[in-house]
Amino acid sequence: MNQYKFWFVVGSQFLYGPEVLEIVAARAAEMAEKLSKVLPYPLVYKVTAKTNKEITDVVKEANYDDSCAGIITWCHTFSPSKMWINGLANLQKPWCHFATQYNKEIPNEEIDMDFMNLNQAAHGDREHGFIGARLRAPRKIIAGYWENEDVQKRIGSWMKAAVGVAVSKNMKVMRFGDNMREVAVTEGDKVEVQTKLGWQVNTWAVGDLVKVMNEVTEEEIDALVAVYTANYDVATDNMEAIRYQAKEEIAMKKMLDAEGCKAFSNTFQDLYGMEQLPGLASQHLMAQGYGYGGEGDWKVSAMTAIMKAMGENGNGASAFMEDYTYHLVEGQEYSLGAHMLEVCPSLAAGKPRIETHHLGIGMNEKDPARLVFEGKEGDAIVVSLIDMGGRLRLICQDIHCVKPILPMPNLPVARVMWQAEPNLTTGVECWITAGGAHHTVLSYDVTAEQMHDWARMMDIEFVHITKDTTPEKLEQELFLNDLAWKLK
Ligand code: MN
Repeated sequence: MNQYKFWFVVGSQFLYGPEVLEIVAARAAEMAEKLSKVLPYPLVYKVTAKTNKEITDVVKEANYDDSCAGIITWCHTFSPSKMWINGLANLQKPWCHFATQYNKEIPNEEIDMDFMNLNQAAHGDREHGFIGARLRAPRKIIAGYWENEDVQKRIGSWMKAAVGVAVSKNMKVMRFGDNMREVAVTEGDKVEVQTKLGWQVNTWAVGDLVKVMNEVTEEEIDALVAVYTANYDVATDNMEAIRYQAKEEIAMKKMLDAEGCKAFSNTFQDLYGMEQLPGLASQHLMAQGYGYGGEGDWKVSAMTAIMKAMGENGNGASAFMEDYTYHLVEGQEYSLGAHMLEVCPSLAAGKPRIETHHLGIGMNEKDPARLVFEGKEGDAIVVSLIDMGGRLRLICQDIHCVKPILPMPNLPVARVMWQAEPNLTTGVECWITAGGAHHTVLSYDVTAEQMHDWARMMDIEFVHITKDTTPEKLEQELFLNDLAWKLK
């Protein structure tokens, strides 16, 4: 993730004369340097733009520089916006309009017309805002003093969403086998996702994976098992199952890396030549930032990888999740999420245990090893990307994860328990109304605002279920969205 940078482009014009422009440039460079120390990605001051050509040139450069994950613009002085049209109309990178001001206070004694000429972001940013609105350009608008900590956090949060865009545009998904037979919500238009989101989604035969597995050496397995035992408690005598999972992980990682894939999917219905569905293997790959989706769900797999990349240090606490069952006792309404094996240990409250258990679903000849743990407490979101036919819809729901209220000693998988907004049953009604899948990405460190930013930048529909959502309001919103997206 360290390769990404953001560019600071400051708007002005020649009217002010060279002295003012020099001060603007010096201040912009100072701000970029100071902000880079607190933001998750460097902010590079590029230009104080005064002409159509300067703006068009910097946009062209941004479009073709892979390390530039987005531009942040600001108008210290007034910058007539017709000179921005050609550049902004061609901008292919995420854009944040930062409506800020170099000075925090209006200086009572010092303020005169010279001060007013130099410090006029209040009207400069309005002219700049108009052209963004007029061009219908997707942009993030953040207003506030640049040295304010909350403002800096918001810029950092947007930067991570913009990095999610860069990751999305380079996303390659390796599908081992097809989707689970007859399932609707895991289907989708791969041409549409490549056009809109940049994803390259392709299939590889399970038999090819088995061939690579057969070439894995005992030494390679020893080394990975040592990593497992260093990170997790071994709560099984079945070392053979753990070694088999290591062999699966090594082979999958070799294939993923050879193709540059950051996400993969498989299905228990297609294990031909494999003794166990990858459990621990998939979980440990997720811990390293790879996306995963069960039952061939390549959409949730790619979203997992993208949201991991948007999280802390480029590999945050985000995971493939599935809604399983509810606790419907009055006053104790919770969802229980898990999967048959593959929950990412980035969600774990404590040290995960490696266990082996029989898995009845699928053609497992042997008991698969898997990590078992409880998810941690905290505010989180669940996110589902669905294909509505002709467009993609991203659904996001606010949730609050709790320590599971039951020990569930016979449940042989990792589990997370949460309260959904606005409450369990209304939340379920809203989720079902929107068409959200049973598979989601659950994230503790990516926020709904970041997912909204990401959806805006990717130009897809965004639906947010919050504490204020009602089924009536949501139904109306979805109806209007449907009309709008048909016209778009
Ligand atoms: Mn599933």
